[in-house]
Amino acid sequence: MSYQAEYIWIDGTKPSPLMRNKTRIIADGVEPGIWGFDGSSTNQAPGSNSDCVLQPVLVCPDPIRGGENLLVLCEVLTTDFEPHPSNTRAACLAAAELYADQEPMFGIEQEYTFFQYGRPLGWPENGFPAPQGPYYCGTGGEKIVGREIVEEHTAACIDAGLAIEGTNAEVMMGQWEFQIGVLAPPVIGDQIWMARWLLARIAEDHGVVVSFDAKPMDGDWNGAGAHTNFSTKATRGNYDAIIAACEALGKNVDEHISNYGDGIERRLTGAHETARYDVFSYGPSDRGASIRIPWHVVKAKKGYIEDRRPNANADPYVVSRLIVETVCGAAAQ
Ligand code: ADP
Ligand code: MN
Ligand code: MN
Ligand code: MN
Ligand code: MN
Repeated sequence: MSYQAEYIWIDGTKPSPLMRNKTRIIADGVEPGIWGFDGSSTNQAPGSNSDCVLQPVLVCPDPIRGGENLLVLCEVLTTDFEPHPSNTRAACLAAAELYADQEPMFGIEQEYTFFQYGRPLGWPENGFPAPQGPYYCGTGGEKIVGREIVEEHTAACIDAGLAIEGTNAEVMMGQWEFQIGVLAPPVIGDQIWMARWLLARIAEDHGVVVSFDAKPMDGDWNGAGAHTNFSTKATRGNYDAIIAACEALGKNVDEHISNYGDGIERRLTGAHETARYDVFSYGPSDRGASIRIPWHVVKAKKGYIEDRRPNANADPYVVSRLIVETVCGAAAQ
């Protein structure tokens, strides 16, 4: 007999890549190995030389099909088995290996917005819902939309073996968050991408679109971020390392901001619980800072920091690589 393996990869669409997937039928007892696809249809190759290679990096049970079926997240290689230009995981892995002795770890809070018929889910066809205030962590039909998708997605992540930690309704109506962690790079990136794919796939069955747009609605509505929480062996041991990490990030602002996702200037305005993209700051419990030091970290004098700048549409391989290079690179000097 056979099982189905859903091969999933990140394409070359700019400025924000899309996820692609296709099904392979595999004989029982055979592992999902390398496969290929037509890169000329995914912004990853010219038609004259279109073959790209899929190299599995995360294989897990398929909670949608169930049974013996698998999900297979892949990185994209050229036919020479080199990382494809669209492959951001390889550099993330290299940075993780270079600074493995510092034991960097991440937890990411992934925000997103449900859409239907071109409007956020639950929003009236004309006009707007009541202003922000009651939606964050809310309950009740007039405040909450899409919970059945969230519940299905959470169960799917657990069944797939992903390190999902929690979910909550967000400040804008139709916006939600899930958290994944605490994981080392590049696994944090693998699991965020897999969880994003599961969300889009499950929402599809409900006729709903998942948007990772950083600022889906102009005006007095919160944007969508991917707060990236970070620690090393040193920050988990003492407060000096916490401050050193913040200071190191403050010396490399432009490189981070320009790689933290499309449309970051529209989201990091200084309003709606953000710090302006061009002003760096850090501080205890400050949700208006670039980097927040959680209150319990201040109290314990050790733990982790929260980089609040990455967009919902940021690439977690890129974000985690940059944080490791900046913070661990400074600590290694
Ligand atoms: P908030 O909404 O208050 O910012 P959340 O509860 O949504 O906080 O998210 C907290 C995040 O912190 C989680 O993603 C979790 O994985 C992460 N985290 C906790 N401990 C660590 C640690 N030692 N290193 C890195 N991340 C951590
Ligand atoms: Mn074909
Ligand atoms: Mn959160
Ligand atoms: Mn949030
Ligand atoms: Mn947060």
